This record gives sequence, C-alpha cells and structure tokens, in this order.
Amino acid sequence: MKRIAIYGSTGSIGTQTLEVVAELGNASVEALVCNSNVELLAEQIKKFAPHAAAVIDSSKEEELRERTKGTGTIIVSGAANAINICTGANVDLVVNSAVGIAGLVPTIRSIEAKKDVALANKESLVTGGHLVMRMAKENHVKIYPIDSEHSAIFQCLRGSDGNRVEELILTASGGPFRGYTSEMLRGVSQKQALNHPTWRMGGRITIDSATLMNKGFEVIEARWLFGIDPERIKVVVHPQSIIHSAVQYEDGSVIAQMGLPDMKLPIQYALNHPKRLKNHLKRLDLASIGRLDFQDPDPTTFRCLALAYEAIKMGGTAPAVLNGADEKAVEYFLKRRIQFTDIPKFIERALKEHEPVNNPSLDEILRADKWAKAAVKRYELEKYHITVRDDPNGPRIGVINVRSPRSPTITVVERQRDRSV
Ligand code: MG
Repeated sequence: MKRIAIYGSTGSIGTQTLEVVAELGNASVEALVCNSNVELLAEQIKKFAPHAAAVIDSSKEEELRERTKGTGTIIVSGAANAINICTGANVDLVVNSAVGIAGLVPTIRSIEAKKDVALANKESLVTGGHLVMRMAKENHVKIYPIDSEHSAIFQCLRGSDGNRVEELILTASGGPFRGYTSEMLRGVSQKQALNHPTWRMGGRITIDSATLMNKGFEVIEARWLFGIDPERIKVVVHPQSIIHSAVQYEDGSVIAQMGLPDMKLPIQYALNHPKRLKNHLKRLDLASIGRLDFQDPDPTTFRCLALAYEAIKMGGTAPAVLNGADEKAVEYFLKRRIQFTDIPKFIERALKEHEPVNNPSLDEILRADKWAKAAVKRYELEKYHITVRDDPNGPRIGVINVRSPRSPTITVVERQRDRSV
C-alpha cells in the first residue's frame, strides 16, 4: 500500500484525491494539511484516520483539536510543521495541491526528504522549475504531474522507444471568453469569469483559465517537466476538453490522450503510475461528443499567454514575477478592485520593471515574488489616483481622491482625532 500525504487536502484537487483514494482503497493516508478550513479537515480526519494533520493558520489549531478529539490523529499547525508531517518516514508520496507560490517550499522540502511528488501545484515549476527538476534528479525522486495536460503528455511519452519528440501540443479549452474581442473583455464580471465551461476547479485557476495565463503557466511547466525548448511547445484551443494534450514525434505522427474532463483521472494516474486501475468514472462516448474543434489561440486579445512566453525568454526570476503579479492581480479582480483587462496590464508592467536574476536560489525566487506583489499593489493605488494629504496645523485630515473609471472624482475627507494615528 502506498502511503501518502496531501498538502492542501480541502481544496479542489485535495478533496478529489481523497475521493480517488476512497474508491480505489489502495493507499493509506498518513498526513493531511489544510490552509484554514478545519471543519472539512476534521471530517477528512474522521474518515481517513491519518497519523497526523496540520492547519497552516495557527489560530485554527485549537478548533481543529476540539473537532477531532478522540481520533488519535496528531494535530499541529503552521507551515513548517505542515511540511514536517508530510515528509516523515511514514510517507512515500506527497500530493502537493497547494495554491500559489505557497506550494514551492513544500515541493522542495519533499524532494530533499526523498519523497516522490504528485504535483498539482503549478507554481513550483513555473517559479522554480530549474531548482525542482535538478533536485529531483539529484535525489532520485519522481515528479508525477497532476495537471491534466501534463499528465496527458506524460502518458503520450510512454512507449516512445527513445524516439525524438518534435513538438508538444498543449490543448486549452479557451475558457468562458473564447472568441471575445478586447472590447468585449473590458466589462466582464467576476461571475462570468468564474463560470468555466468544461472544468470544475478552484477560484484562482478558473480566472487564470479565462485570461489564458493558466496555459502560459502550463507551457512553462511543460518546458521543465519534459526538458523541451519552449519554441517546440504549441498551444491549440480545443473547446470540448476531450483531447488533454498530445505529442508529435519526428515522423509527424501525433499521439494524443483523451478522456472526459475529470481531474480524478490524472490524479489516479499520478498516484498509481504506471498502473491503470479499474474505476467507476464515467466513460468517454465519442459518438455522443460528436465533434472535436480546434483553433489557434488569440494572444493579442489574451495577452497573458504572450506574456508567459516573454517571461520564459527573459528567464531567471521573470517567471516568478509573472506568477507573483498574476496572483495579486487575480486576488484584486476577485475582490472587485480591478477590471479583468487590468490583469495582463499589471503583469506586463511588472515584467518590464523587473530586472531578472539568473539561475535564482529559493530565496531569490521568493524575493522576486514579493517584489511583484508589491508592484501590483502600487499599480492598483496609482490606477485610482489615491493620495493622502496631511494638514500639519489643524486636525489631521486625510484627503483621498478616488477616480474610478465609472465615476467622476470623489473626494473623501476623513478627520481623525488621535493625531498619533
Ligand atoms: Mg491544466
């Protein structure tokens, strides 16, 4: 029985991983980690009885203890402890389904501890691909992709018999705004952007799919995972999401992997590679699908895809800035603070202002990420012309001029009695 740890067990991939484990019954769950959703984590602990569990948000530790009284599972909190319980001697494979750059350190620590990694955290490869792949080789650790496109390529490369690959073909659903013009994109809402036509996923990745940044990240992931030149990675829009990706060999033959869009399939393959175990997932019925469509992506309207290729060219810490700026911009978009079309604008500006560090260390990657997030924060303030003025003689008065795209200038005058504020 494979002994697994899940770093990020309450998110979309984490919960589906546990569903796969429950159905196949051939893995034992040794450690579970969540960010803050202790209610769901407690349910998972009762069902899977892990040796240990961690909540990264330490303020929730007591509540988790309370909710899991009498289970026998060891409860800890904080990111460092969370990594420790995933890399113990009782774990063979770490499923890393953290969201964002927060997943990079767990990936690196898992590799150092010589644990195989089933990787759903894109940012590990986007921001630190050179480190992750080098360390995996040095430590004889296997990286199994959970991203559906990379799982597809991973499967298509089996049985290549040493033949050379000419091109990787990454498919993209095109997201909810496929066919939109730049003009049409300007006013789209959070709700529209969160409504992905084929995949059921978490919030950030759904927005990244709508901007095509997700595909840009996947080009970077593929480049590191499969050691291929980015120029030989082609993106094609395929709205039905039935072909998950393909490999073209030097004789022009193309091997594709197909299936219904369900993340449980790549998860199951990553957990059980190279075995294909029988399951009860819905089967692909080609006749009922009827047709498969393909078209070139539109990188002029969906700037994020072009920006990803630019970040690859810049190299070093540029992809970390690409990701950091995107993380912050998407967060602002979801909070209704910026428009959909501001996302690529802010990322582009951050890339332009960044001076990449070559062959960065983990610290340099994390620093570039912080810089990018601070840069986006600054751009957002500038966009709304927010200034705070102080009157040194009277009561302290802050004047904030807010100029939003939809409303005329509003002046907010705030008086504060306590001058030390
Ligand atoms: Mg994907």
